[in-house]
Amino acid sequence: MADGCAVQLTAPNGVTFPQPTGLFIGGQWVKSSLGKTITSIDPSTEKPIVAVQAGSVKDIDDAVSAARRALQDPSWRDLPGTERGQLLHRLAGLVDEHKETLATIETWDNGKPYSVSLNEDMGEVAGTLRYYAGFADKVFGQVIETTADKFAYTIREPIGVCGQIIPWNYPLAMAAWKLGPALACGNTVVLKPAEQTPLSILYFANLVRQAGFPPGVVNIVNGFGAEAGKALASHEDVDKIAFTGSTATAKDIMRMAASNLKNITLETGGKSPLVVFDDAELENAVEWAHAGIMSNQGQICTATSRILVQAGIFDQFMEAFKKQVRNVSTVGDPFDSNTFQGPQVSKAQLDRIKDFISVGKAEGANLEMGGQPQATAGGKGYFIQPTVFTGVNPQMRIFQEEVFGPFVTISKFESEEEAVALCNGTQYGLGSAVFTTNLTKAHRVARRIEAGMVWINSSNDSDWRIPFGGVKQSGIGRELGEAGLEAYSTVKAIHVNMRSKL
Ligand code: ADP
Repeated sequence: MADGCAVQLTAPNGVTFPQPTGLFIGGQWVKSSLGKTITSIDPSTEKPIVAVQAGSVKDIDDAVSAARRALQDPSWRDLPGTERGQLLHRLAGLVDEHKETLATIETWDNGKPYSVSLNEDMGEVAGTLRYYAGFADKVFGQVIETTADKFAYTIREPIGVCGQIIPWNYPLAMAAWKLGPALACGNTVVLKPAEQTPLSILYFANLVRQAGFPPGVVNIVNGFGAEAGKALASHEDVDKIAFTGSTATAKDIMRMAASNLKNITLETGGKSPLVVFDDAELENAVEWAHAGIMSNQGQICTATSRILVQAGIFDQFMEAFKKQVRNVSTVGDPFDSNTFQGPQVSKAQLDRIKDFISVGKAEGANLEMGGQPQATAGGKGYFIQPTVFTGVNPQMRIFQEEVFGPFVTISKFESEEEAVALCNGTQYGLGSAVFTTNLTKAHRVARRIEAGMVWINSSNDSDWRIPFGGVKQSGIGRELGEAGLEAYSTVKAIHVNMRSKL
């Protein structure tokens, strides 16, 4: 399988490309040991795109062995950080070169608008890899002053073999968030993509090889969560597991990781609030509030899915927000440049949103907009109307639980105190946003919100230079920024005795 058992595919936008379908283990393309496959579905048409190999427990085992060998091989172990950085730079350059193809695959497989895949996701992939390329020769320890009898210093070492479990909402970007810091710090990786979106990362695997990474440094094994994911999270020879996905799965992973006390980084669910105070710039707040929940089909862990508006401007906000949804949220073919919202990634996700719409109605909330599948010309695809509920109280499930779709609740509050209490009244603590023109209030509220990130006068304005992660049941540890390096390196202390005897 020299070429990854590639099949030639032509996407709906006319782009033709070789799509690898194998498992990428030890720098080679191999078939699943049990002959299992995953058929990837186009969420716009519900038609199969292609079947790819699905890894079994044995395949994960092989990938972990390959990663262990690579970790100990001088070609990687002793490679100077500067040269690791050059490999990452080369990979980022190859992503730029192939970005149209990668974006095409991403849109076909995931359903996100092509303009978003191309201009946002691929920029994020290359940018993150490049950012961490720069760090590869800047991960170092300290000399620590003690006494004349002792010379003490620390070095930063890779954690070892890292398992990385990737979600389907940003398939390549989430992989880059994890690969960048792991490789910059000299680790080796076994990466398991989500079964809903197995394709773009296989094309990317060939770029990893082309960039010149030694075999086994990056292994990519598609597979089902309950089989391949579980095998990776519970593997005794994996040193670290990094996961992005649902809070429920994260709890399972944490339990499995306990078997050999793996280092963990978990980035999980959210129900992020967006607070609009009376003194906010209304137009700005409306634009960000719309983008903060409706972008990427609402499939963003940090989506600001609970909008809280102060009573004095509530009616004005509602009117402007609904207008924004009507004007901007065009739902349809993700390859059409006028589309803002493509299909949800899968039937399961569409059904989940439909269930929450029923729950909201049954709980007595007001359905202000949407609430129906979006009819399309062919009558196929997992399209849903952008959905807005008001009249929501904090006990309702639609206020508490993550929906993961273009689904938002808008509530009214009177005081700053009440707004903070509403923000903090869920099990989650991922993102949050505050809109006000009062500088003091903005910073005061930012400190009081229980969240890993606060955006003042914006929403979901993520940046690879800035740490990303959650508190409470939204996760453990940080990705991105310099903080992201801590997740992939460990400190070793070295004590040198300068006296001849005890
Ligand atoms: P969602 O419910 O949104 O699909 P998940 O948290 O189930 O999100 O999936 C995120 C990633 O976790 C995917 O790569 C999936 O295959 C993987 N996964 C799901 N279940 C498990 C599990 N029990 N063990 C390990 N990985 C899992």
